[in-house]
Amino acid sequence: MGADAADSSTGNGPDVSPGRLKRAAHSETSVAGVVAQIFNLLFRPLVAGKPENQPARLPESKPSSAENRCTANSLRALAFAVFVGVAMAFGVAAADFDLVIRGGWVVDGTGNPAQVADVALRGGRIVAVGRVMGEADRIIEAAGLVVAPGFIDVHTHADEVADLPLAENFVRMGVTTVVAGNCGSSATDVASFFRRIEATNVAVNVAVLIGQGSVRSQVMGGSFRRPATAEELDRMRALVEQGMRDGAAGLSSGLIYLPGAFTPTEELVELAKVVGRFDGLYATHMRDEGRDILTALREAFRIGREGGVRVEISHLKLSGNASWGRTNEVLAALAEARRSGLDVTQDQYAYTASSTGLSQLVPEEFREGGKFRERLADPVQKAAMMAAMKERIATGKRGDYRYAVIADYPPDRALNGLNIAEAALRRRGADTLDDQIELILELQSRGGGSGVFHGMNEDDLRAFAVQSNTMFASDSGVREFGKGVPHPRGYGNNARVLARYVRDHRLLRMEDAVRKMTSLPAATFRLKDRGLIREGAWADLVVFDPEKVQDRATFTEPHQYATGFRAVLVNGAVVVENDVHTGARPGRALRR
Ligand SMILES: [Zn+2]
Repeated sequence: MGADAADSSTGNGPDVSPGRLKRAAHSETSVAGVVAQIFNLLFRPLVAGKPENQPARLPESKPSSAENRCTANSLRALAFAVFVGVAMAFGVAAADFDLVIRGGWVVDGTGNPAQVADVALRGGRIVAVGRVMGEADRIIEAAGLVVAPGFIDVHTHADEVADLPLAENFVRMGVTTVVAGNCGSSATDVASFFRRIEATNVAVNVAVLIGQGSVRSQVMGGSFRRPATAEELDRMRALVEQGMRDGAAGLSSGLIYLPGAFTPTEELVELAKVVGRFDGLYATHMRDEGRDILTALREAFRIGREGGVRVEISHLKLSGNASWGRTNEVLAALAEARRSGLDVTQDQYAYTASSTGLSQLVPEEFREGGKFRERLADPVQKAAMMAAMKERIATGKRGDYRYAVIADYPPDRALNGLNIAEAALRRRGADTLDDQIELILELQSRGGGSGVFHGMNEDDLRAFAVQSNTMFASDSGVREFGKGVPHPRGYGNNARVLARYVRDHRLLRMEDAVRKMTSLPAATFRLKDRGLIREGAWADLVVFDPEKVQDRATFTEPHQYATGFRAVLVNGAVVVENDVHTGARPGRALRR
């Protein structure tokens, strides 16, 4: 902060650029005006809670900036002298802020109890917390509202944020920072990814992981059902290293997707070693989130240990009825890994349904190599596909594919919102398991689409949610309003945590829920000066009504913004005001 107090002589707030003065809207040039300001200062309602707090900033004795272009006339100078004199006599100080959020319940992100306090901002940063006296260009009255650090969503697919720069679904549920590049899929040129973010101006801050699947595709082309050669591995290492040098937060993997699914553990270890040298982390969508979850966890831990890298388990869940209730085993494995010295954390979304491509319903061995249609045309191979899919249903104890809902199927959007059984009935006149599988194969042969899968259990979700190392993250991309029937988490995840799990079900204290969405992700992903309300931190903030905050998006009508947000600020700029996007795009590229 270079502009501190450079402007005290006018009582006006500084612009965000150091050394340049800006006339505040309420600027006064008369003695009467200044006296009115003094009156306001002295007799405005003082916020309760921390009366022992000293005013945040004493006025400097003289302007510190050589570029001070203030043209104070003698009357104004005299008025200021009176003003400072009176203020000092009464033990208050004058200070200038771009904005003060006054009298809210400050939940600072640490998990500590909420305190009533003011939060003052200048130049995009928080400059005072407590009982703040002084003038601001703007005041947001927050009595009765929660003031928290902006939410950090560490598991997103917001890689297209430069195309949809308002990121409205995110900011309107309080998200001020997204981490893109998850599940193995990202831009492989991190430098140009960040350049584009900066050239576009986007509403949220953006960090990114480099996706192992994308790196593998780029290096190995379409032939990836094999280990990489030594030469290919070198090229992958070089790509990952460049990504880390360009500011990626770490490496992500998506080990159920192509080509990640065919990656040997040893290859992942080699790339993790590169990331570890930069203090990055390894975030993984594991090979299995159901029956074989313990094996999948063990692989992630091995990559962490042998790669010398911190591990983030992405969207932790127990998928499929057959695996429900095994949270104790999973939590014991995580605890054991931590006891052994591995730094491992996890994230989850606050819904019991997942979302991904409908292609996931078809085993990957039938899809890989771009030869799905060829195989489908061969009766022997088609019979093998149907048998494998029936086997999956049987081992998952699901009965049929009713748990899978078509979110968006571009060739025939009339199917959007129907589950596979309903769609089979519509398209084929019957919904037997055979008809459902035939329908899935037909969808896949025509290009596929996206789906929502109701595969989780509420008790499991809760058991994971209360762990101190669990963060909440949406797993969502930037939404185009009204397009398709996507998973509602992209519009509601953080609001749902606050509404359902803090207020309505009292599963979490507000302070703990906020910590899981702010300082824990900031510390884990090494996002400097974010995730906490304290002096010097970037002013990413949310102001919301704890009684009214609500997710509105549902599985059938997902395009509904969350409500209850008085304001959302990114780098000090108001991006959401009273549940409406202001159009501001103050987000930054967050290089590690
Ligand atoms: Zn994933």
